[in-house]
Amino acid sequence: MSFEKLKIIEPILKALNNQGYTQPTPVQEQSIPIILQQKDLFGCAQTGTGKTAAFAIPVLQLLYQQKQTIKSAPSIKALVLTPTRELAIQIQESFEAYGKNTGLNQVVIFGGVSQAAQVHALRKGVDILVATPGRLLDLIEQRIVNISNIKLLVLDEADRMLDMGFVHDVQKIIAKTPKQRQTLFFSATMAPAIRKLANSLLKEPVTVEVTPVATTAETIKQKICFVDKKDKSALLLHMMTHTQIPMALVFTRTKHGADRVARDLNRSGVRAEAIHGNKSQQARQKALHQFRSKQIKVLVATDIAARGIDIDELSHVINFELPNVPETYVHRIGRTGRAGAKGIALSFCDREERAYLRDIQKLISTAIPVEEEHPFRDSAGRNDIRQPARKNNVSRTQANRFAQVNKKRPSFNKAVQ
Ligand code: AMP
Repeated sequence: MSFEKLKIIEPILKALNNQGYTQPTPVQEQSIPIILQQKDLFGCAQTGTGKTAAFAIPVLQLLYQQKQTIKSAPSIKALVLTPTRELAIQIQESFEAYGKNTGLNQVVIFGGVSQAAQVHALRKGVDILVATPGRLLDLIEQRIVNISNIKLLVLDEADRMLDMGFVHDVQKIIAKTPKQRQTLFFSATMAPAIRKLANSLLKEPVTVEVTPVATTAETIKQKICFVDKKDKSALLLHMMTHTQIPMALVFTRTKHGADRVARDLNRSGVRAEAIHGNKSQQARQKALHQFRSKQIKVLVATDIAARGIDIDELSHVINFELPNVPETYVHRIGRTGRAGAKGIALSFCDREERAYLRDIQKLISTAIPVEEEHPFRDSAGRNDIRQPARKNNVSRTQANRFAQVNKKRPSFNKAVQ
């Protein structure tokens, strides 16, 4: 399948070519034709599957074609709602990259920074607005933004928006949009609350589902390192100085932990920055930029700060601490091995974290291979992980769903052996 076969128009094809995209990902292949037929869509896909382009490309194409036939005054024609500032910025950058030959304008707005620059950008005229809910509502209430004429509404990471408590803001925003509109709804899960929200917003939607666990794991080599808690910093330093790791995104469970890991690495001469909820937006953007441009070797992040972050060619993800929610493990390792590239996910596991490891292995139906080749091995660690035990925070149905997916995909198991 090629983008030409999906009937993508020349100006966008050229831009995709520039991005080095040769063929659509599965979620793009399935979603683009539906969106181009102006149907509503319920997309079940995580970041890392190419879902941003799956909606950005056809939205650009529809707006470009409408612009050729109807000459109207500048007004917001497409609205993309997304839960975090980082995602909002990335989405806007994607629209900019894919739409650079279309003459369509896009603006991104999010909270936590002064609104002046955003208002200035809005006044210049906008076709596509990418926004987080809080700031958008503010600007609507101040009558700076008018979304009453939009043709297209995209809800990105709707599950996350619910988790973060944005449901009322989202509903208030949607009430300001016209009833006659095309709605695209993306979520990583199909939990009942998500279905309910989707049903209230979508008209005769077509559902597209791609399976995130298998998609990421096929290209990600996973390893577990058993290590005492007190030796984790030394192990990380060893990994970063004695092995061929060009850059690593390191996850900790807490903001404090992230700061400590970054500080220890810097003290030992490995350049690192931490991003988490206590850092200003400016500091987070700066750290991301330094990481992307390889000025720093390690970016240490908490889960909230890292969600949706898209770093090209990220070779390694290191779980300095295992997450207590097993799905988070899948989200984390999905930062590497993106769009078919190869990635390595290393997880440090101390004695207290063995229950988490059991839950993760149960969820992904795989025993993660043990890395024996490191100087801080905690050999007792191996004995304790054979009987997967379930914790309360993941439902059996969810675990079964992932297990089913992986059973159907033997290559998943092969990839990590
Ligand atoms: P997303 O799921 O939207 O976060 O995208 C994940 C990554 O895949 C991003 O780095 C995109 O630039 C990249 N990507 C999206 N579509 C394609 C494609 N068709 N070919 C190659 N890379 C892609």
